[in-house]
Amino acid sequence: MLEISSLNVAYGRVQVLFDVSISVGQGELVTVIGANGAGKTTLLLTVSGVLRSIGGEITFDGDRIDRLRPHEIVGMGLGHVPQGKELFPAMTVLENLEMGAHLVKEQDEYQHRLARAFDFFPRLSERARQRAGTLSGGEQQMLAIARALMGNPRLLLLDEPSAGLAPIIVDQLAEIILDMNEQGLTVLLVEQNAFLALEIAKKAYVMESGLVVESGDTAVVRKSDLVRRAYLGI
Ligand code: ATP
Repeated sequence: MLEISSLNVAYGRVQVLFDVSISVGQGELVTVIGANGAGKTTLLLTVSGVLRSIGGEITFDGDRIDRLRPHEIVGMGLGHVPQGKELFPAMTVLENLEMGAHLVKEQDEYQHRLARAFDFFPRLSERARQRAGTLSGGEQQMLAIARALMGNPRLLLLDEPSAGLAPIIVDQLAEIILDMNEQGLTVLLVEQNAFLALEIAKKAYVMESGLVVESGDTAVVRKSDLVRRAYLGI
C-alpha cells in the first residue's frame, strides 16, 4: 500500500534521511523505532507531503505521491496524527472532530464517522462539549487520533502516540491501535517506545541517524543484538 524507496530528505544543506526504504502492505501494522533525532518525524512529514524529498520515491496504492500537496494526499486516504497532536485547544472535542471531517458534506456520512470515532474512544463522547485544551494528555492523544479517523483514512501515520503518557494510558492506547488495525485500518507507527511498538506491530524497521539499520518481522527484530542492547536494555 505504501512504498518508500531510497528516500533522501534534507533541511537546507543538512541531509537527515539517507536512502530510506520502507514498505507497508494493506492491513499491516508496521513500526519504525529509533532514538530521538533518528529521523522518524521527518519521514512521516515527507510521506504526508509537508516536506519535500531530495531523492527517492513514495507511492501509495501504486500512485506516486511524493510531489503532491498535503491536502491531495489526505484526500487519497492517508491520515497523519502529528507528534505535537496539533489540536485546537480553545475548541471543543466535537469541534475538533468536525475539523477532521470538514470535506464531508453529507450529514449521514458525517454522523457515521462520528459514531465510529466515539466507538473507538467512548471517553471522547462523554467529553464532547469540553474544550480540547482542558483534556488530559491521554485524552488529547485519543482526540488527535479520532480527528484523523474522521477523514476516513485507509492508512494512518502515528507519530509517537505514547510520548509523555503514563504507562497505563499507553496500554489503553496500544489496545485501541490494535483494535483499529484488526478492523482493517493499515497503520505506520513511529515510536521511541520500543517495548510498545514491538509488542503490537508485525513488522519493524529500526532507524539510526537517518538510516534504516535493521528491519524484518517483529519477532526477529526483537531478538537482534542491536535492538536488545540499545532499545530494550536486555
Ligand atoms: P524525535 O523523536 O525527537 O521526534 P525523530 O526521530 O522524529 O526524533 P526528526 O525530528 O525527524 O527525528 O529529526 C531528524 C534530524 O533532523 C535531527 O537531527 C533533527 O535535529 C533534524 N531536524 C528536525 N527538524 C528540523 C528542522 N526543522 N530544521 C533543521 N533540522 C531539523
